Amino acid sequence: MLQPASSPNVLVVGAGIAGLTCAGTLAQAGCAVRVLERSRGVGGRCATRRVDDQPVDHGAPYLHGAGALFLEAMRRLALPGLVPGWPQRVREPQLACQPDAFGVGVTRWAIQGGMSILPKRLAEGLDVRLGQRVIAITPAASAFDTVNERGERQSSPVLVLAASLAQTLRLLEPLAADWPDAASTLERLRAIECVPVLTAIAGYAPDSPEPGFDAWNPFETTMVQMIVHDSAKRDAPAERVLVVHARPRFARLRLEDSPLDWGRDLLWETAELLGHWASEPRWLQPHRWSSGRVRIGDQLTAPVVLRHPQGGALVLAGDAFGGAPGLEGAWTSGMRAAEECLALRAAAARA
Ligand SMILES: Cc1cc2nc3c(=O)[nH]c(=O)nc-3n(C[C@H](O)[C@H](O)[C@H](O)COP(=O)(O)OP(=O)(O)OC[C@H]3O[C@@H](n4cnc5c(N)ncnc54)[C@H](O)[C@@H]3O)c2cc1C
Repeated sequence: MLQPASSPNVLVVGAGIAGLTCAGTLAQAGCAVRVLERSRGVGGRCATRRVDDQPVDHGAPYLHGAGALFLEAMRRLALPGLVPGWPQRVREPQLACQPDAFGVGVTRWAIQGGMSILPKRLAEGLDVRLGQRVIAITPAASAFDTVNERGERQSSPVLVLAASLAQTLRLLEPLAADWPDAASTLERLRAIECVPVLTAIAGYAPDSPEPGFDAWNPFETTMVQMIVHDSAKRDAPAERVLVVHARPRFARLRLEDSPLDWGRDLLWETAELLGHWASEPRWLQPHRWSSGRVRIGDQLTAPVVLRHPQGGALVLAGDAFGGAPGLEGAWTSGMRAAEECLALRAAAARA
């Protein structure tokens, strides 16, 4: 599986959709690229867990897009188990956090085996190193070094930061004192708002009431932003599963509280909408996304390229840099980041 790259031309921090798209495009262009990912798996916020062997999407619940390049790239991946048009039974789509997902000309899909099938497919054949949390980046002669938690260093002439925006800010901050370009970029990036998301994942008996929707964005709630009927996209699910997403204000207020407490509160309000049964699941798994989404409209239209006076270059990618929200924006930023890396390499070869 691994393409050995003892000394990569490009290091990518983050194996989410942006980082993997960037790395895959570079590898296809013949570049030696390595991805450093802090977690035990790829995908970032395009995430699936298995509960009693049933997949549950606790990050992005479905894919949607309108750009011809994005749609064609997804089609070419030939992902197994696509559920075209999902979610179909949508209540109050105009209140979705990305209402464009339900606009004219937008394609939507879910994946029966779980959304993480997408990043796993993007990662095939790439040199992805898991369990590599990058805690610092430092400029070196014609390169950037990364340092992980164990103090191990890796170096490459071009370094792509494709972590969440909050992580990218953390890595850039120490460089700002001696590097005016980093300082002014930080100032621009701090104006982008990251919205936390809390999700309560709840399992019920298969004969519990059928809620009658795939996704609902209820109007008169203070805690619940969206209820996703996750098991409705599975083939013969053993359990009914709901994934309840919190409103941003509630998420900010309760981010540091005990997850089971806010998880139960989210189910309490869900039960106000669906009936008492929804407050008494067989199991409840809360999940906290401290940098869940970039506020709609705050996205920059392209990756940021920073050339250090010592010769190394940084490229900033991720869903804050793709001109569109969510997965399509992350994918677009990854493609454009790869183009920037190739242009930097070509310029270095000419020099
Ligand atoms: C609950 C929820 C629902 C959503 N719903 C939708 C939806 O319906 N439609 C949609 O289009 N989008 C949705 N989104 C947003 C979408 O999931 C994200 O925009 C997209 O997945 C971001 O991809 P990314 O590659 O930019 O970042 P990420 O997926 O965050 O990937 C970044 C990766 O970097 C890694 N990383 C971070 N720091 C470090 C470090 N220091 N060292 C090494 N690795 C590091 C992380 O572990 C992660 O794997 C949703 C998000 C959430 C949380």
